[in-house]
Amino acid sequence: MERCGYPDCRSLSIGTFSLVPLCQTHMDTIRTESKKWFTGGRNMSYETARVEYLQIADQIPWSQPMLDLKYGR
Ligand SMILES: [Zn+2]
Repeated sequence: MERCGYPDCRSLSIGTFSLVPLCQTHMDTIRTESKKWFTGGRNMSYETARVEYLQIADQIPWSQPMLDLKYGR
């Protein structure tokens, strides 16, 4: 089994989020946060609304921060 992709987490992954392996705790955390974001949190800035997601975003090629880097937005 793979390890959780969250920085400094040593737990085993139970599945993937955007292809990043995550343990149960971080899967729950990031899913909850994403749901909040997609159901109306968009008046918050990306950086404050998706703190947990941003921890793994550098492993997701199509994540907003990676696209910003690539296309300079
Ligand atoms: Zn974890």
